[in-house]
Amino acid sequence: MGQSPFLPFALPDIGDDEIAEVVDTLKSGWITTGPKAKRFEQAFAEFLGDPQIECIAVNSATAGLHLALEAIGLGPGDEVITTTHTFTATAEVVRYLGADVKLVDIDPATLNIDVKAIEAAITPRTKAIMPVHYAGLAVDMIAVLDIARRHGLRVIDDAAHALPTTLEKELIGTLGTDATVFSFYANKTMTTGEGGMLVTRNPEIAKRARIMRLHGMSRDAFDRFTAKVPSWYYEIVAPGFKYNLTDIAAALGLHQLKRLPAFQARREQIAASFNGAFADLPLILPPVAPEGDTHAWHLYVVRLADDAPITRDAFIEGMFAAGIGCSVHYVPLHLHPYWRDRYGLTPEQFPQSQKAFERTVSLPLYTAMSDADVERVIAAVRALLA
Ligand SMILES: *Cc1c(COP(=O)(O)O)cnc(C)c1O
Repeated sequence: MGQSPFLPFALPDIGDDEIAEVVDTLKSGWITTGPKAKRFEQAFAEFLGDPQIECIAVNSATAGLHLALEAIGLGPGDEVITTTHTFTATAEVVRYLGADVKLVDIDPATLNIDVKAIEAAITPRTKAIMPVHYAGLAVDMIAVLDIARRHGLRVIDDAAHALPTTLEKELIGTLGTDATVFSFYANKTMTTGEGGMLVTRNPEIAKRARIMRLHGMSRDAFDRFTAKVPSWYYEIVAPGFKYNLTDIAAALGLHQLKRLPAFQARREQIAASFNGAFADLPLILPPVAPEGDTHAWHLYVVRLADDAPITRDAFIEGMFAAGIGCSVHYVPLHLHPYWRDRYGLTPEQFPQSQKAFERTVSLPLYTAMSDADVERVIAAVRALLA
């Protein structure tokens, strides 16, 4: 095993069609936001299968979350409730707008935000809830949307892990949130290198996000510079951002999206292999989606059980010694100096997230893994724990 090349924690899966499309873009004379970004938005809307949904391509999910919160008018004095068990991007965008973050604990069964804790965290300042579909397993959005309706709150879900994820057979992104944001970062279930998609059925949010995506201009660059709409005129209506997705990135996205069903099938297959091979080990295996629903399997997260022979850190070192990269998702936000100090947070306030953090390991699970790679991960885990 020591002689095998290092198996990284994640790798993108870029095929010849993606490469040819990027080359075509480079030769086309239009490399920034243009026809391919528009086609990618249309293809994404078709994938979601809802003609009322507007898709707004952006250069990261972080940008998309920022635009969504800006579009609902979030500002100083407002609070947004989210999970402590997430990447900092989910929460930082709230601070970009001068609003504050109310972190809550997770449900240990799913590692998703504890829906009961959401209701308890609501104050007169609460404006929105930002659930995260951790690892690719849907949050109980029916309950979240019900809380939001009863308290007059907005819901923007961070779906960076959730492509494709379903809840009661409906795709995340089509459940009637104010906005849902997907990520196409290099290690996500499909990638454009860097990129994201804001999706919404709310025409006002869509309009505002399109304007703020590109400097607060009333029309975007494609419309201005093509012959069809020969207008050189634009107006700046707000101090917007520079969050547009390039056609080079969209070229990747067009083909990655076509391959998404095959990617999903392969991820399911690897997750099933792991679940079978680890069933007898001192591990808490990842929760699975309810019968008939889809788990995106962006991450395969195990927790070391109380009777595991080694600690989490020793396990990761052992995997590394076997030439296999692992990761931890996440160091919860309440442990990071910025969030801890701003809100005076302690681990005792988040017992479930804290406990999960101390035991979790993310194993490599990606479509570029061969069957031999999968077997190698299984053998290394068994050697450490069996
Ligand atoms: C990756 C990720 C993001 C950020 O996505 P970018 O496209 O890199 O901005 C946000 N939230 C979560 C939970 C993520 O995993």
